[in-house]
Amino acid sequence: MSELNTLPEHGAPSPFAHVREGLRTALRQALDVALPPLCPCCREPLGDGVGLCAGCWSKLSFIEPPYCARLGIPFTYDPGPGLLSMEAIAAPPAYDRARAAVRYDDIARALVLGFKYGDRLDLAPMMGRWMARAGRELTADADALLPVPLHWRRLWARRFNQSAALAGAISEICGVPELHDALKRVRATPQQVGLSKPERADNVQGAFRVPADHKAEIAGRRLVLIDDVLTSGATVDTCARALLRAGAAHVDVLVFARVVVPVRSPI
Ligand SMILES: [Zn+2]
Repeated sequence: MSELNTLPEHGAPSPFAHVREGLRTALRQALDVALPPLCPCCREPLGDGVGLCAGCWSKLSFIEPPYCARLGIPFTYDPGPGLLSMEAIAAPPAYDRARAAVRYDDIARALVLGFKYGDRLDLAPMMGRWMARAGRELTADADALLPVPLHWRRLWARRFNQSAALAGAISEICGVPELHDALKRVRATPQQVGLSKPERADNVQGAFRVPADHKAEIAGRRLVLIDDVLTSGATVDTCARALLRAGAAHVDVLVFARVVVPVRSPI
């Protein structure tokens, strides 16, 4: 119904206009309750379920051992415990270990985009549960979880930090407290999408800092950085450098999804 229909011919608001508007609001709210939640990947109704539909769930590619002890990149065969990938030897990151719940493929991408840009904060507990499982060995002896911060302008536009929502869900499961504000994004950086690995590293260079009044919370502590997606690792590497400069004893990384290039071999 158009707004014009609520006005009688002389232009004054109809005495029933607010009643109609109230009814419309009530109808919208009733529809929100009546319509089942949708799968964030394929948009099919979930019925009584939550999270993903069974079809999309079965297509998610969970990362399981064997994988590189340092980077968490899955191996195609089991080379034995503690072995490192070529990448970990050739270009060791500033952080110690990285783990991810799933491979970043079409299904994981749809899930992350729905979570990040589709106001689907309701997905955080499910994604956090999978991350807590993937990161058990990291959180077992960690002092705090640190979500990768957004610049305040992006936080304002998006209204929430997806990494903080994930950190909150993981913290509830493993009991490791979250640390907010101890790491700041001091420079707004363009999105990393479409950049090469060296360009990504340049893009986030110097973008994070531990404020002087938060150094005591970082010094000597074992920290786990939390983010949604790991692509080149440039962002978490820059964060880890800032934390280690501030005196952190140890920095690990736990993400929901990571990009995995198919052919990987241990050495
Ligand atoms: Zn689905």
